[in-house]
Amino acid sequence: MRAAVYRGPDDLRVETVPVPRIQAGELLVKVAACGVCPTDIKKIQYGTLTPPRIFGHETAGTIVRVGARVKGFKPGERVALHHHIPCLRCHACRHRAFAQCAQYKRTGITAGFEPAGGGYAEYVRVMSFVLPGVVKIPPRNSFAEGALLEPVNTVLKAIQRLTLLRGDTVLVAGQGPIGLMFTRLLKLKGINVLATDLIESRLQLAKKFGARWTVNGSGGERAHEQHTSEAIGVVGRRPPGAPFETPTLSGGAHGVTRPTIRPGGGDEVSGAATQLLERITRGRGLDAAIITVPSDAVVQQALGQVRGGGQILLFAHTRRGRQTAVDLATVCVDEKDLLGSYSADFTVQKKVVQWVFSRRLDVRPFITHTFPLEQTAAAIELAAHPTPDSLKVLVVQETLTPL
Ligand SMILES: [Zn+2]
Ligand SMILES: [Zn+2]
Repeated sequence: MRAAVYRGPDDLRVETVPVPRIQAGELLVKVAACGVCPTDIKKIQYGTLTPPRIFGHETAGTIVRVGARVKGFKPGERVALHHHIPCLRCHACRHRAFAQCAQYKRTGITAGFEPAGGGYAEYVRVMSFVLPGVVKIPPRNSFAEGALLEPVNTVLKAIQRLTLLRGDTVLVAGQGPIGLMFTRLLKLKGINVLATDLIESRLQLAKKFGARWTVNGSGGERAHEQHTSEAIGVVGRRPPGAPFETPTLSGGAHGVTRPTIRPGGGDEVSGAATQLLERITRGRGLDAAIITVPSDAVVQQALGQVRGGGQILLFAHTRRGRQTAVDLATVCVDEKDLLGSYSADFTVQKKVVQWVFSRRLDVRPFITHTFPLEQTAAAIELAAHPTPDSLKVLVVQETLTPL
């Protein structure tokens, strides 16, 4: 079969590899669609894992082989896959810290080599311990919708980390595919969303998906990828002594825009944004801020923008080793919570499936580009460097139901 094999940093080659063999408790699935996720982009571009591997974990396809001991599945069924499944019994799981469970950290889907998801290949082997995560796709829904269950799950999981009430006001910083999903889901939950981004077209989409207010962090200039990170947030200047962001990939746990260096600018926005924030929260401050851009400056701004007892949720700070200054009295005295959320929550999957397949959360508008398997590298390149008209990028191997 054909597969896009990771051979080293920034080196992805489409090669012929053996179709994976399955064991008695496993499935073989012919891949139809696989979402390009920034966590994979990082691994490929930075070369953080040892090659060779076949990445791609937002996978949907058709079951073609069923192991002798597998019950409840048959060939021909269209399914969406989940490559991490918690054991639900260990110490971490009993504390609902599913992403910290030892079984969860094992990757249960592979197209060969060290298991890494395998979605950028024609066939994947689905191991027995991730079978509880296999979801059947209803006839009216597309493979693409199935492939987006995983990113939607990560978003819903993150929202459930927050203690929000209907009518609350929440900042969603960054309106990439993930930021837009946050905006949409929060709107459906009765939350007033203030959306920020540097790309005007994304702010328009944010409006369409339910943002009540939008602010362009680039100071009204035409923003492509030239951003000041400190301008992404709504209010305030870069704190004294805070570093400018180094350019990063379109990073973030699951799909965000990328800040690059452009010192200056943004200050004109601050005054207007401060007033807006004052007005829309009646001087209280935000109830919560969700940061989908890997910018420390935006987090620091958000610490000033949320009310006492409010929450700041980090979704894109996945790179280790960098320190940032935080006034800890904002946590201790003002009781502002600094939270993180990573990966999916198996226990909300049922809800995710209902929202997506009923199209109450219609994910189809998030998908803007599809590439054939042979062009996986181009798909990753586009997802890493989004254009004004690109959102979620998929690698597809079958004619998908029209999006
Ligand atoms: Zn993902
Ligand atoms: Zn566990």
